Amino acid sequence: MRSTRNYLDSFVNHTSDAIHVEDLNGKVLQMNSAFEKMYGWSADEILGKPLSNIPDQLEQEYEKILRSIYQHESITDYETVRYTKSGHHIDVSITISPIRDDKDEVVAIASITRNITARKQSEEALLQSEKLSAIGQLAAGVAHEIRNPLTTLKGFVQLQQKGISVKEDNLKVMLSELDRINLIVSEFLFLAKPQASNFQTVDIKAILEDIGVFLQPQAILHNILFTMTFPAELPPVYGEMNQLKQVFINVLKNAMEAMPSGGTVRIELLTETPKHNIVRIIDHGCGIPQEALNRLGDPFFTSKENGTGLGLMVSKRIITNHKGTISFESKPGQGSTVDIRLPTAH
Ligand code: ADP
Ligand code: MG
Repeated sequence: MRSTRNYLDSFVNHTSDAIHVEDLNGKVLQMNSAFEKMYGWSADEILGKPLSNIPDQLEQEYEKILRSIYQHESITDYETVRYTKSGHHIDVSITISPIRDDKDEVVAIASITRNITARKQSEEALLQSEKLSAIGQLAAGVAHEIRNPLTTLKGFVQLQQKGISVKEDNLKVMLSELDRINLIVSEFLFLAKPQASNFQTVDIKAILEDIGVFLQPQAILHNILFTMTFPAELPPVYGEMNQLKQVFINVLKNAMEAMPSGGTVRIELLTETPKHNIVRIIDHGCGIPQEALNRLGDPFFTSKENGTGLGLMVSKRIITNHKGTISFESKPGQGSTVDIRLPTAH
């Protein structure tokens, strides 16, 4: 017994995961040294006291988890956020399990916390760099599209300069050209800027319409026409707008790139009971060979000379974060259909 106990103690104290046990009132009964290191509270400070390391907006979620722990369930790898003593927040993955007495009653709760902040940061960096690369590729189209209205504007200004007064109608044209430039540039900047993750109810149709405007320059350059169909009523989904935009841009870009000599890309919005919206993107491009279908979304898998092979990987991860799915169907030489399924908000 003693040697087993020593063995366990040493194991518990040498792991880099924080381990702590709390009673049913939330008071800390036991902790290991990794806990002190990760959270910053020493044993003296926290033993016998409740931990206050849960952000307000996550309290409810945690209480729900506790209720299931009381029902003898365990939670593994629950990814969430916690505060440290100094008030920093860290990304963590927690495994929580009940501790039972010999009458099988839950008497305490054990938590093992792994700090995944570094992993989250590198995921975020990858997401950002892939986004910048996609945006870089779109920049040529955007620049091209902005140059035309600029030429028009310059022409009018030069006329005015020569003393030929610009007419009311021309002013209208100038204004609408300026609006267009403004829209394209704002969308561009919005996408390029790293955004704090902000889940909310989002209108998928509005997002796709925005993206349509944004991709238009690229589409015109390559002879591509977008069409969109949607049902009269489309429930909102719960998501992070910027990330969803990124997914749709990645998939639409792939569709355009599959049709080097132009054609139509169909975007169909469907709603499915129970509780899913589908964004279906159909191209009539080169298609995807059978053996490649399984590799879509693998990092760096690309068939393009200037491809990154990251677009679908990032998209897949975003969709998974939204508890959705993405699936591909394709006939080589005829085209591909991509289905993105997203759970609706209610
Ligand atoms: P990239 O576009 O940089 O190559 P992606 O992850 O976006 O990276 O796509 C990976 C690969 O999947 C592409 O190189 C292409 O071979 C294939 N692919 C994706 N979508 C389509 C599509 N609509 N039509 C044909 N091939 C596609
Ligand atoms: Mg791509």
